[in-house]
Amino acid sequence: MKKLPLHVKIMIGLVAGVIWAFASSAMGWNNFTINWVDPFGQIFIRMLKYIAVPLVLFSIISGISGLKDMSKLGRMGGKTLGFYLMTTVSAVGIGLLIVNVVQPGAMIDEDSRIKNRLQYETWANQNGVEILDGKNYLSDPAYANYDRADEMTEEEKAMVAEKQALAAENKDAGPLKFLVDMVPQNIMLSLSNDKLMLQVIFFAIFFGICMAAIPDEKIAGVSAFVNGANEVFLKMVEFVMKAAPFFVFCLLAGVIAKMADTPREVFEIFKGLASYSVTLVAGLLFLIFVFYPLIIRSFVKSLTYRKFFNKISPAQFLAFSTSSSAATLPVTMECVEDNLGVSKNVSSFVLPIGATVNMDGTSLYQAVAVIFMAQLHMVDLSVTQQLTIVLTATLASIGSAAVPSAGLIMMIVVLQSVGLNPAWIAIIFPVDRPLDMLRTVVNVTGDATVSTIVAKSEGELRVD
Ligand code: ASP
Repeated sequence: MKKLPLHVKIMIGLVAGVIWAFASSAMGWNNFTINWVDPFGQIFIRMLKYIAVPLVLFSIISGISGLKDMSKLGRMGGKTLGFYLMTTVSAVGIGLLIVNVVQPGAMIDEDSRIKNRLQYETWANQNGVEILDGKNYLSDPAYANYDRADEMTEEEKAMVAEKQALAAENKDAGPLKFLVDMVPQNIMLSLSNDKLMLQVIFFAIFFGICMAAIPDEKIAGVSAFVNGANEVFLKMVEFVMKAAPFFVFCLLAGVIAKMADTPREVFEIFKGLASYSVTLVAGLLFLIFVFYPLIIRSFVKSLTYRKFFNKISPAQFLAFSTSSSAATLPVTMECVEDNLGVSKNVSSFVLPIGATVNMDGTSLYQAVAVIFMAQLHMVDLSVTQQLTIVLTATLASIGSAAVPSAGLIMMIVVLQSVGLNPAWIAIIFPVDRPLDMLRTVVNVTGDATVSTIVAKSEGELRVD
């Protein structure tokens, strides 16, 4: 039998996992799936995660210490951040456009929306928040017969409170807090905390620059160690990826089995939120299939549509199954270097930064979700308010950790920034995981795209 390419095998694992999960719920085997299949998925994520931090550390140091020309580093840094910002802002813009044209929140029946509106005004009055569009439905006799009670269940309230506490931790204390947060206090602590990846990157860049400033013979041992360690971690990725189809099967079977007791429930919830989910999925698919390929084509002519997807699809499938750009990072690096032909110098610098700060899928999602919820509550947002959303969604996506559901938590900050009720995240929570999977694919594709064009503009792209 002809050997199947890895991405095809991963896709088979993915589809088989979904089929398994549905069959297992139908036959009442969910406990078996959760106890005996899902743990292998968890093992997979753990392996990818523990490889990610040392890989970032060693690959950045080895990439930067090998740069003989430091002005190149500054140029590359500028380009990287510029492109990242540009793609993120475009993503939010596309999200806003789609959600304003389709108006998914307005497709819900009028009565429910009026009820939502009254609840929003009650909440705003209780919390001293200004009502955004200045309208007042509460005192309008036309709506006197509507119920104004808060209908959140205890469970939902607890969930929202927990997420709010998490968001509060992330909230900026001052304008330069993000800069302060980037600098490690103790590198050992940074290495041991998933959320401190930017500190690891900062340390690695500085370490690499210092190495480059010292004559080669003095640091020959350190160089050999760093380069060797880098090779070892890359080999680990290669080995783990050989088993990826099986692991992806386990992961997906587990995720779906845990999502709801019966897949019917998931479908039902999706139906209720169909207009929102479809709008968001359309936006995300647009980024994956139109936006990035167009950017790639305009910079690298030889990289055709098919070639681009063939080369990065293992990373995309993995992003989909793990919902985490950080866990996918080792594989993204492998695909970008080995398949797309981006030099290690560029990929080791651009990708780790991208995994932590460049989240186009997350920013589009935040824009769509916030406006959808405003529409659902009959709140008309002005252009200025929508621009505030662009700004906060961009910042929130930069601040989101590259782990599952991070975008949902940071959305609380976006909602608060325009004076909307952060508890609304409970509305979209039930369908968040599958959408998280798709936005993570966008996040990873965006990083791969930017690294390719930075490499091209630096003459660091091997074209075959
Ligand atoms: N799961 C996403 C990621 O890791 C972040 C998000 O929740 O949007 O890229």
